[in-house]
Amino acid sequence: MTEKQIIIRSGETVLKGKNRKMFEDKLMSDIYRCLKPYGYYKIHKKHNRIYIPVEEGYNQGIINRLKHVFGVDLISIASVVDQDIESIKMAALEEMKELKNNQSFKTFKVESKRTDKNYPINSQEISHLIGGFLLHAIQDLQVDVHNPEVTIYVEVKEKAYVFSDRERGIGGLPRGSNGKAMLLLSGGIDSPVAGWMVAKRGVLLKAVHFHSYPYTSQRAYEKVVDLAEKLTNYCGPIQLFSINILPFQQAVVECCPESEGTILVRRMMTRLAEKLALEHGCDALITGESLGQVASQTIQSIRTTNESVTLPVLRPLIAMDKQEIIEIARKIDTYNTSILPFEDCCTVFLPKKPVTKPRVDRIIQSEKLLDLEALTEELYNKAEVEWIKDDTNKEVYECQN
Ligand code: ATP
Ligand code: MG
Repeated sequence: MTEKQIIIRSGETVLKGKNRKMFEDKLMSDIYRCLKPYGYYKIHKKHNRIYIPVEEGYNQGIINRLKHVFGVDLISIASVVDQDIESIKMAALEEMKELKNNQSFKTFKVESKRTDKNYPINSQEISHLIGGFLLHAIQDLQVDVHNPEVTIYVEVKEKAYVFSDRERGIGGLPRGSNGKAMLLLSGGIDSPVAGWMVAKRGVLLKAVHFHSYPYTSQRAYEKVVDLAEKLTNYCGPIQLFSINILPFQQAVVECCPESEGTILVRRMMTRLAEKLALEHGCDALITGESLGQVASQTIQSIRTTNESVTLPVLRPLIAMDKQEIIEIARKIDTYNTSILPFEDCCTVFLPKKPVTKPRVDRIIQSEKLLDLEALTEELYNKAEVEWIKDDTNKEVYECQN
């Protein structure tokens, strides 16, 4: 049976200078966490790469799982064989056939490295020998050393490693390498995508959802839980807070100009999210706002919302078109859940003619008609929380968060 090793390469992590070790350690621990459901793997790193020894008939699910790990750019499955050239040829042939099964290409090259300097054949000769052998063994192949469609790597160390860039990972930076942020998670298409994009840059997510129970249903909340669960496939477990904002909405209806309802509620949500964020060690908020997408997402509304908090509000979708957002939603598998038709608290008490260019001073005047402090405390104190688990072992992450 041929020994196999999965080799992981991480593009940006290797650029991180003095912090590289921290990034690599986070990546290692996340890979370890993600592979837990598949059994015990002895992961190690060497020269900017992570190695995972597996058996020949390894579970393909592992590769799929690794494709969900932030910080993983390239996934190769190396055959680890004896140093003799015949074994290397066989391994290269097997790799080439595997590639041919999955994609159509014509050009290739072999790139070789020899760290065992006692090895009798030099790198160039190894490439030449293996390249010639593959040309002969498989029809319709051409060598292109400058711009090949695929590259077969041969590395001769204590053993010979033969592999290609078999699979692309998701990229980004390792989970938890860039602090924590609080995602305002609705049941829509945008906010899960926004959370995913920021998490991809290494940020640990916490999330808060606002509802107007009983005007919004339990099933609407469950949809949000389902979305958070989809995100855990990439982001790991997520602490999800939920707050019933109905008492505030009712106070607004009673005391404030009807047209300002949406922006007043938006400011309150942002304030409550900031309060939770500060309490739980987050340094930023995340929303799925996209400029001009709906009347409440004008630049003036965004400014008015921003002025209710001091934490930075990350809006990764701000300049994206809906179609671009939908493409990501499909890729991360949140789209089909997002489009399920459940009500959102923003649609409860929707003003007939909402202000689209709110002025901060006017909105502050309207807020003075409310007992803002008492309402904030009341809502905040009733926040509920649950952990949305991923498919890995619970104990591992609880100590990380
Ligand atoms: P989404 O598709 O994310 O629901 P949207 O296009 O419906 O966004 P809005 O309803 O204006 O836009 O919401 C803008 C952002 O405000 C959302 O992306 C989300 O971050 C936040 N938000 C809206 N409603 C809620 C809610 N009920 N709970 C938490 N956050 C919310
Ligand atoms: Mg929405």
